[in-house]
Order: sequence, then structure tokens, then C-alpha cells
Amino acid sequence: MSPAASLDWAALGDETVQVLQDYLRIDTTNPPGNETVGARFLADLLSRDGIQSRLIESAPGRGNLIARLPGDGTERPLLLHHHIDVVYADRRYWSVDPFGGEIRDGFLYGRGALDMKSVGILQLMAVRALKRAEVPLKRDLVLLATADEEAGSVYGARFLSEQHPEVIDGAEYSLGEFGAIYTRPGWRGYAGDISISEKTGFPIRLTARGTPGHGSMPWPDTAVNRLIRALGRLLQAERPLRVIPEVHAYFSRLATLLPEGERTGWDDLEASLGDPQFRQKFLADPHHAALVRTTFAVTVLRGSDKRNVIPPEAAAEIDCRLLAGDDPDEVLDWVRRVVADAQVTVEAIQPAKVPTLSPPDTPLYKMLAETIHRREPRAVVLPLVVTGFTDNWVFRRHGVQAYGFAPFVFGEAELYRVHGNDERISLENLRAGVRSYTEMLLAVAGV
Ligand SMILES: [Zn+2]
Repeated sequence: MSPAASLDWAALGDETVQVLQDYLRIDTTNPPGNETVGARFLADLLSRDGIQSRLIESAPGRGNLIARLPGDGTERPLLLHHHIDVVYADRRYWSVDPFGGEIRDGFLYGRGALDMKSVGILQLMAVRALKRAEVPLKRDLVLLATADEEAGSVYGARFLSEQHPEVIDGAEYSLGEFGAIYTRPGWRGYAGDISISEKTGFPIRLTARGTPGHGSMPWPDTAVNRLIRALGRLLQAERPLRVIPEVHAYFSRLATLLPEGERTGWDDLEASLGDPQFRQKFLADPHHAALVRTTFAVTVLRGSDKRNVIPPEAAAEIDCRLLAGDDPDEVLDWVRRVVADAQVTVEAIQPAKVPTLSPPDTPLYKMLAETIHRREPRAVVLPLVVTGFTDNWVFRRHGVQAYGFAPFVFGEAELYRVHGNDERISLENLRAGVRSYTEMLLAVAGV
């Protein structure tokens, strides 16, 4: 009999609900984060099963926790990571205390119920269950709870990557956010997202310079006017669209869920985008558009501090987002060519990070897809490129194949509540989810 056969799923489910309830009661709103309190809570639970952990603070109160369930080393480690911090919750708009851990009508409410303390507790409980059952493992399972994901990971994953790279180096895979099984009105079934890549922020600054002067006597080539014309050219310019194979697969599979009339052209996106009518309709959806091109959002503008002064300098910051396969230097050159003004400098605000992707054909990806199918047999598994970013890119930078995954089947009550009001998760999702997560780890790491 396999050691896993001794696992009592009902008891594990109840314990998972209880532990998440307690975890949600710890206020880790970032800022300030206070992740150390959360990390100590997790460390205490692990120690009850004899699992040692290490608390590393990047700054006072900004705790990160690392624990390892050792395998025999036949295969390289799997990192299971979640972020302890949560975003601000405005109590006025909640029907319960966002840090009360309240259960109502089969749902556990609280900031972090979806993003992402729930996943963190599935990981923790699955690892505790394997330890209790003394399951022999072929690879280390490394639990990682990070600080500061919601504010850019400086005190969390990025700190660990730079100051404690040994925690990440050598791992083959990592699992974090986002992923889910869900449906939408009008769909013919369920989608199961596994995140494989994230668009990468590449902030760019445009600075125009010129002669200063009095606002009463303007001339055409002031710094502000040059900047406006440069931005106009940038926003008018069409960067070629690029359909990467994974985005092609995403839309062609998503198409099978859509009603007949809505999916025309989605099965071969690249070819369809050659049709001006399809292209216009497709790109009108900002999310779809972001998946097939490098985007440029003008977000910060600076001119004169005084209305009657023509300033010597005007600047704009662009929130540029790169797609996997984009070359940051080429993008910067392209912007310079489009701007085409020697008196407008174009520069990267931060050193470029090359966007990365973890392919949807690794053995782990296939096991995640199987896990989704066990939860919802009719689900169509979609390789998702996330337009924002999480901690995952930090792990990919270390050569780790990083995926976002959660074995939750979301209904209307849970969907779209990430960072929203009355964030909650069903107890059914927690109970079935912890079993799915544990079985998935058995398949991936069991001998
Ligand atoms: Zn998150």
C-alpha cells in the first residue's frame, strides 16, 4: 500500500479551512506588509510536523520564510511559492471584516482568500500531509513564502534572488500564481488557465529639451511642443503584431468554448489578423491586444511648474510592456526611430529585463493539466500569458520553469474578486483543492 493511502482527505480539508481562516486574520496589508507575523504563523504550523524553516527579513517586519521537505535528489527541486502580503481592503465596501476570517454560506471571506493566501495554505498543507504520511520523494519540495509581491517584490522574491540566490538556484520548477478553472456566461464549458509567462515592464522616458522663455510669446519648437509631437508619433506608429505559438494555442483552444458566431478567426489568429476587419475588432479589446504586441502607455507627463514659463525641458514616462521574445534594445531603437527628433532623448528608466516564458510542454505542465482535468473533466486547458506580473519572472530569471496554477473551480461568487470587495473562496474549493494539490505533488515528486 502506498503511504499516501493513509491520508485522510476529509480531515485534511477541515484543517485547511481552519488554517486559512487563521491566516486571513493576520493583517499583512502592504504597505507596510508586516509579513514577519505571517511567516511566524506558517513556521509554527510547519514545526508541529517537524519541518524546520528559516525566516529571513529583508527589512524590519518584512519576513520571508523558506522550508524544505527533502527528497532523494534523483530530480531537481520544485519550489512552491506564495506571497504573504495582500493589498489594501476598504472596510466600507465589505459586508464582513476583511481580516475576520468569517465563514458565510459556504464561503470563507477575507483579503487574501484568492490572492493568494489560499494557494499558500494548499501548498503548506499538502507538504505537511506528505511529511506526516512519510511519503518518499525523488525531489526536494521547497516552500517559499515571500514578502512584498504586491508592491514589486523588492523586499521579497527580488531580495531573495539577489541576496540568497541559493534558495532558488538549481530548482527545476516553481509553482505560484495565477491559474484557475472557471467559466463565463455563454461559454460551452470550463477553461483551466495555467500561467506560463508574464509581460515584462520596460519603463521608458522621453525628454525634450529647448530654449526656455515667456508663455506670452510661444514659438513652434518649445520643449513641450516637441515632446507632444514625439508622443503623437509614437502613439500613431503601429508596431508589427506578433502571435507567439503559446498565444496562438491560447486563442485556438479558447475558441472551442465560445458560441459559434464569436469565435470566427480565433483558430488561426496570425492569419486572421491579416484581415483588416478582424484585426480592428480583435485589437479593440485591450486584453487581447496586449497579448499580440508590445504596448506603450503614456502615464507620466512633466512640463513647466508655472503656467507662464516655457520650460527648458519636458518629459514623459511610458509604461512599456514586453512580450516574451521581445528584445528590449530593439524596442528602444524602434521608439527612437519613430520619435525621429534628435532633441528628444529616449532612454530606459531601469535596466531591461528580458521577458521569458516557460513552455507548455514540460512534464510538470502536463501534470498540472491532468490535475485540472481531474477537478473538471471537460475543462479546456489554456496556456496563459499574464499581462501584469507576479513573482514568477524572478524565478524564470534563475532558469526555473515557473508556472501559475491553482486547482480551484471558481463560480460567479469568487471570480473577479482579486483585489476587490468581499474577496472569498468556497470551502468546497479549499477541501477539493488541497486534495488536488497533494495528489499533484505526489505525482510530481513521489518516488
Ligand atoms: Zn498575488
